[in-house]
Amino acid sequence: MPEGGTDRRAVIAGAAVFAGAVVASAIWARLEQGTGGTGEGFDPGFAGVLPSLGDGPPFRLTVAEVDITPGHGVSMIGYGYKPRLSNGRCARRLRAQCAVLRDPDGRVLVLVRVDAGALAYDVYRSIVDTLVAEGIVAAASDFMINISHTHSGPALGMHPDPRVLTQLPDEGIGGVQATAEAFKNKVIDLVRAAHRAPGEPVLLAHAVGRAEVGMLRWVQGLSGPTELPVLIARNADNGKLEAVIYSYPCHPVCRGNDTVFDADFCGVASTVISAELKAPALFLQGTGGNVDPVGQGGGEARVHLVGQALAEAVVKTVRDTRFGRIKGGLDAAIDEVALPFAPDLSNADAVAQLRRRYQERIIQLQAGPTKDGAARRHAELMVALIDAGRLPRGVEMTTQVWRLGELRIVGMAHEVVNAYTGYVRRLAESDDVWVLGYTNHVECYLPSDAGLTSGGYAAGWNEESGRYFPGVAGSVMGYGWPAPLRSTLDAKPGAPGVEEMVLQRLERLLRIG
Ligand SMILES: [Zn+2]
Repeated sequence: MPEGGTDRRAVIAGAAVFAGAVVASAIWARLEQGTGGTGEGFDPGFAGVLPSLGDGPPFRLTVAEVDITPGHGVSMIGYGYKPRLSNGRCARRLRAQCAVLRDPDGRVLVLVRVDAGALAYDVYRSIVDTLVAEGIVAAASDFMINISHTHSGPALGMHPDPRVLTQLPDEGIGGVQATAEAFKNKVIDLVRAAHRAPGEPVLLAHAVGRAEVGMLRWVQGLSGPTELPVLIARNADNGKLEAVIYSYPCHPVCRGNDTVFDADFCGVASTVISAELKAPALFLQGTGGNVDPVGQGGGEARVHLVGQALAEAVVKTVRDTRFGRIKGGLDAAIDEVALPFAPDLSNADAVAQLRRRYQERIIQLQAGPTKDGAARRHAELMVALIDAGRLPRGVEMTTQVWRLGELRIVGMAHEVVNAYTGYVRRLAESDDVWVLGYTNHVECYLPSDAGLTSGGYAAGWNEESGRYFPGVAGSVMGYGWPAPLRSTLDAKPGAPGVEEMVLQRLERLLRIG
């Protein structure tokens, strides 16, 4: 059932959640009243997480959340090509949820997950720099923010470019910046509040369940990934479940293209899991760049079908699977690099050629709320950037590895396709690895090299455009970049394609701890 609501109610509700009950234990304590307390219905999975002698001191955990649903008239991101400003209604609230984890030696890792479509690199950078400056985390490696990729959320930056996708006029850019600023401040305040709390002593354990709610995009009739990693935190003193963190790779596109805010299937899933298990549930987006939810069309029925099925799979995993206890401390490492484009944009001739092709496109294509109109608008923006000498030379890429005892959590920026989960597992020589896409910032697709060399939506080029130029309605156009990313076809010694660049960095990061 949609909650409905107006802009004003959304704002007020957000303020109330934030001011009154940031620390989630209060919220969940209320939820538990009338249920007779914890433990009901829990069985075999939990038994494996009970404390036993000699296992060492527990971790400490604080979980908190805040409503981040914006109001009406806000530029939304996820679909093209007609104008798309929020109408003030909200089907399921957009939340930021935070888990502050401390190991017995005092190492602090801060995980945030948000219901949002994408997040600009500079907004991420500003959040993490603030947290480091305030001493909340020791370094950027110790903070991770995962973006759900709901297609019913606000624009939080200019990649994807709402001027291209939704005809946002230039005067609307200030509004996008204001929305991003408000988002940033809410996330920082959330982390500050969660960090101030002493946290609960917890035992951590993980298991892998099975969910069948995804199907491959672009490949007719093929079912998607089934792995469902789940991490649980159980109170070391009283056994109470303190948090369920789970990940699945899949596009939150069940609602479809309208102007209502919606956390989509992951919002339903976390609400159902929380009601069922009496603990906060945090969804983390996996390598879902090429995965869609099962079902057809858009609307409430599909949001519920997928969300409910995912929730049931998580609850079943928690109840029926034997969890492996996490022992040992926390560690983290991070790396940043700019992913290069296929043409060498430090070369003046290559830039001049790019400009010629964009000018041809402006002449050929009609303006309007269509894919052609979007491609024309994109071309105009690129010519303006070239003429101003402000063409970007690459796309920032962050790769990150957290170690929780034996478990490693890999966070990769952008819309990472599912093939990377296998690549990372092989590098790690272990199955005890979670691979997350959509982490820290989301500003493009990260296809595999095979995807980049063969073209298509994620690669951002097609037969007609060729591999140095964005195809009409491809992802490079929508995200507002000048050209597709570099594949092995354009790699040179010392200048590899982006897949190799990313995997080389991850190989180094995986050696931590
Ligand atoms: Zn996407």
